[in-house]
Amino acid sequence: MNRTIEIFRLSIRPAGIGGKVVIVFGLFYALNILSCSGSGAKDDTTPTFNAESYFVSRTAVISAEYGLSSSPYKFKVLETRKIFICGTIPSNATLDDYGKVWWTLGSDKRNAYIGNSANSYWNYQTGQYTVPLTFDPTSLSSGSANITINIGTANEVANSSTTFNVDVVNLRDYNVEYNSQTGYDLLSRGFAWGTVTSVYAGAGTTIKQSTYTSNLVAQDVIEVVDDVAGRDELFDYAYQYCSNALMHNPNLGLLYAVKNIKVTDKNGVELPNNPDALAVGIARSGPAGYSYVKVGKLDGTLNSTTLPKEFTRVVIHELGHQRGIQSHSTGHNGIWKSLCIMMDPVEQNLTQSQMLTLWDRPYFCEGHNQVLLDKVW
Ligand SMILES: [Zn+2]
Ligand SMILES: [Zn+2]
Repeated sequence: MNRTIEIFRLSIRPAGIGGKVVIVFGLFYALNILSCSGSGAKDDTTPTFNAESYFVSRTAVISAEYGLSSSPYKFKVLETRKIFICGTIPSNATLDDYGKVWWTLGSDKRNAYIGNSANSYWNYQTGQYTVPLTFDPTSLSSGSANITINIGTANEVANSSTTFNVDVVNLRDYNVEYNSQTGYDLLSRGFAWGTVTSVYAGAGTTIKQSTYTSNLVAQDVIEVVDDVAGRDELFDYAYQYCSNALMHNPNLGLLYAVKNIKVTDKNGVELPNNPDALAVGIARSGPAGYSYVKVGKLDGTLNSTTLPKEFTRVVIHELGHQRGIQSHSTGHNGIWKSLCIMMDPVEQNLTQSQMLTLWDRPYFCEGHNQVLLDKVW
């Protein structure tokens, strides 16, 4: 079983730091203008790319990028989703011969042209490209299939091709059993379950909440030692207070709202700078995943408008770990890759204005949407 503990840390920067960033940025911009006016013509040999373009580096002329490595693409029946086709065209070739990608399945036919646009990458100097192809498995009522994709001319003369696998699945859904310690309920503090469900709907995932009322101990702080055994204690604690159904169904996860989790060394001394101690949420990926939100640790840190949004953001982030996203720093790609909800404000050095944006638009980037689309338990 994959027992990964993922950590999320909160860092709200003082307003003054945001101001400094703006000033530095402004100075840089001014220097840039001076430099351009002094040097004359724009350098046309340097390619520019859309800030949100999807890019995967592959040396093969054509290949498909899987959201989860070595896993087939998952589709629900009648679902349409993007698949990213990527590669490097030969150094002596042009887009006349390698400018279009397409696939055919029965009467269904799709194509896309290589170029620079939102979500699409093309570097004419290196020959690298990544382009989204929309795929609709209507002609696959069930089971799996190999799809052949081609790259070639505008008239569809293929110069190279490869295959990728798809699986048609019935469901891509996930039930979250919610439980809270007395006095630390998220639902009564403005936490927006509707935002969680709409964000996951963007990744084709249905997330349902069921509230399981157990006699969850309202202890002050859950204490665990920062080692493998301590993490198992968190697991054991979570599973003391869930329904029996959770133990048997892999499409269920746990969400706990607790006061705090204190992380100590082997002698019971708290580790104040340990990432586990700084985190405001902790999650383990599933099957049988769980997430904790340290409600008491967040209380008093934000105002009445931003605190409920922070609870919502932390829940979306921690459930993202449960659904197979492990890293804060890798896998961001395509639309929203500059500000993805799986980023860690400390690791990724997010500014105050970026935090405000995340609270209002707590999206997964396209790269992590792809991971979620391929995750089916
Ligand atoms: Zn995290
Ligand atoms: Zn991302």
